[in-house]
Amino acid sequence: MGIKALATAVALGVLAWASAANAEDKGTIGIAMPTKSSARWIADGDNMVKTLQAKGYKTDLQYADNDIPTQLSQVENMITKGEKVLVIAAIDGTTLSDALQKAADAGIKVVSYDRLIVGSKNVDYYATFDNFQVGVQQATTIVHGLGLDAGKTGPFNVELFGGSADDNNAFFFYNGAMSVLQPLIDKGTLVVQSKQMGMDKVATLRWEAATAQSRMENLLSAYYTKKHVDAVLSPYDGLSIGIISALKSVGYGTSGTAMPVISGQDAEIPSVKSIMAHEQYSTIFKDTRELAKVAANMVDAVISGKQPEINDTKTYNNKVKIVPSYLLKPVPVMAENVNSALVDTGYYKADQLK
Ligand code: BGC
Repeated sequence: MGIKALATAVALGVLAWASAANAEDKGTIGIAMPTKSSARWIADGDNMVKTLQAKGYKTDLQYADNDIPTQLSQVENMITKGEKVLVIAAIDGTTLSDALQKAADAGIKVVSYDRLIVGSKNVDYYATFDNFQVGVQQATTIVHGLGLDAGKTGPFNVELFGGSADDNNAFFFYNGAMSVLQPLIDKGTLVVQSKQMGMDKVATLRWEAATAQSRMENLLSAYYTKKHVDAVLSPYDGLSIGIISALKSVGYGTSGTAMPVISGQDAEIPSVKSIMAHEQYSTIFKDTRELAKVAANMVDAVISGKQPEINDTKTYNNKVKIVPSYLLKPVPVMAENVNSALVDTGYYKADQLK
């Protein structure tokens, strides 16, 4: 090796050593995610790890299989291990208060990720999407799919599904959707044959597809043996899949019995394919790369004692305080804009959707 090459090698070695030492210094960030049963949370976890590691942090990513005690013990372990900041997408937003008090006592900051942690003052920042707007967009795609914005007058039959009532987001989605649908229900343009309305009647515990499927089966056999259901408000792609199975099992989607206009959320691949096959009508794309960026910037800011960028200080009252938030913009997706929203943006490769 010549002198020059040696010098370069030494310099590179020093650099590698310096960046390793730097990574060491920056410490570990705990990332608590709810479940791997939905692709969106896998993408969230992967993007958080990638983004934080690029900033020089180590990461401790944990999934809890949608089990509340598992998530609680994962969070407690992160506190015991002295991780610098916790980024938490809670399963049940109400169950972490004691653990978060321990975190605060140990000087560990907490970023609430996508879902608001409620009932605790020890939530420092909230990174999410405009959740009310998600609901508005879901309902707006239904109005569009029914042709109500193009002169059709109905009346159309609609049934409503909500998300998990222990997830604060579920209320924002429902309320956002109802801000569009309720006036049409009041006018008689939309009719909820089952009369099942309100989160106390339409929620789906833990966002379980099987629960939505069996509720849809019950609705079909109780109210739709002689009527056609024209639209279904579904707050999440996984539920839409269950709802579509129930509909198919009684003949919807065959000639003569059109599929209702069905919404969704998260742009998960099976649902995007379903949209392209004209079964599900719409989904809402929430770019988890952007959410990871926002949350990682919050982590970086709190560690360096700076103010993270926030754009909302009014909306997210967690029953103890208003949590300073950054809200990203959700994007509605229907068959006509699958490519521009999901492929041109690099979120999926075209052949993943084939
Ligand atoms: C998220 C949605 C997701 C749902 C079910 C919500 O908290 O905001 O994107 O569809 O949980 O996982």
